[in-house]
Amino acid sequence: MIDPFGRCINYLRVSVTDRCDFRCVYCMSEDMTFLPKSEILTLEELDRVCSAFIRLGVKKLRITGGEPLVRRNVISLFDGLGRHLRSGDLSELTLTTNGSQLGKHAGPLYRAGVRRVNVSVDTLDGAKFAAITRWGKLEKVLEGIAAAKDAGLAVKINTVALKGVNDDELDRIIEWCGEEGFDMTIIEVMPMGDIGGEMRLDQYWPLSMVRAELQKRWTLEDTDYNSGGPARYTVVKETGRKLGFITPLTHNFCELCNRVRLTCTGTLYMCLGQKDAADLRTPLRQSDDDDLLIEAIREAISRKPKGHDFIIDRRSNRPALGRHMSVTGG
Ligand code: SAM
Ligand code: SF4
Repeated sequence: MIDPFGRCINYLRVSVTDRCDFRCVYCMSEDMTFLPKSEILTLEELDRVCSAFIRLGVKKLRITGGEPLVRRNVISLFDGLGRHLRSGDLSELTLTTNGSQLGKHAGPLYRAGVRRVNVSVDTLDGAKFAAITRWGKLEKVLEGIAAAKDAGLAVKINTVALKGVNDDELDRIIEWCGEEGFDMTIIEVMPMGDIGGEMRLDQYWPLSMVRAELQKRWTLEDTDYNSGGPARYTVVKETGRKLGFITPLTHNFCELCNRVRLTCTGTLYMCLGQKDAADLRTPLRQSDDDDLLIEAIREAISRKPKGHDFIIDRRSNRPALGRHMSVTGG
């Protein structure tokens, strides 16, 4: 699939649920209202949509959420999609998780064909972890990460940079990733979704500043490594591990953008930072063969915008996009 700007779209991210067993302060409010079940695609429907994308040339699939591992029977989705890895039509099946359920799911994920997981960890301090995630327990996440490692999964740690919250800890997390053999990406906090209060504005910490700070203590060597997304990767010379910086508020990655995002209701967002979307659930449910669905996907790709309009509006103090990150999975 080639979009109007000549970009090859070969990466699909799929949010399989909007629910989560955490309530991270920058992501959700404590009293979230979740979608009714009838609006959510079944696991069979999710498999059908993913398979249609794979037929159209998608090579990399990332399962996310909400928390993907809280969806009942989600392993059966991974098991099913594993057939595309074995046929060679799909190069990679991965997931982004908060790690709380990895303890029990790491082995089955590996057996389904998953080889890498991204786990979100913003702090290694138990009390701070509880404060950031509201409902999470660090210990359980660390157990999950250990299980993933034991199962043979490569682990990448995602850390949201929060000024005044984990700024004193990034060195320790980089060190820990070095000890454990994990790559890491640091994410700039984004203005998405109403989460109650406006703490994200106070916590906004531009990654240019984070990087300048880290460079006082670490040797960060630029690399050409590129995942087609908003991450720019360096190698930390002292640990030998990759360290990526995700700065979605800058425009410098859009010309390489290779991805689209599907929500658990079958809505396709062609850009994380735009409102425009395509409904794939209607064509999916209209017929048992995939012709209408494939036509709808092609039409959506032909509308993929050139770039996004993210902006933290400090005057009105409102999020630039009303949609929560848990809808599109980041
Ligand atoms: N629940 C899983 C997790 O936490 O990894 C997957 C979904 S979560 C929405 C995906 C990523 O988005 C996480 O790394 C999370 O830290 C990040 N995230 C959520 N809200 C964000 C925001 N407002 N700004 C930046 N990153 C955010
Ligand atoms: Fe849940 Fe992930 Fe959002 Fe945290 S960032 S509330 S773990 S979806």
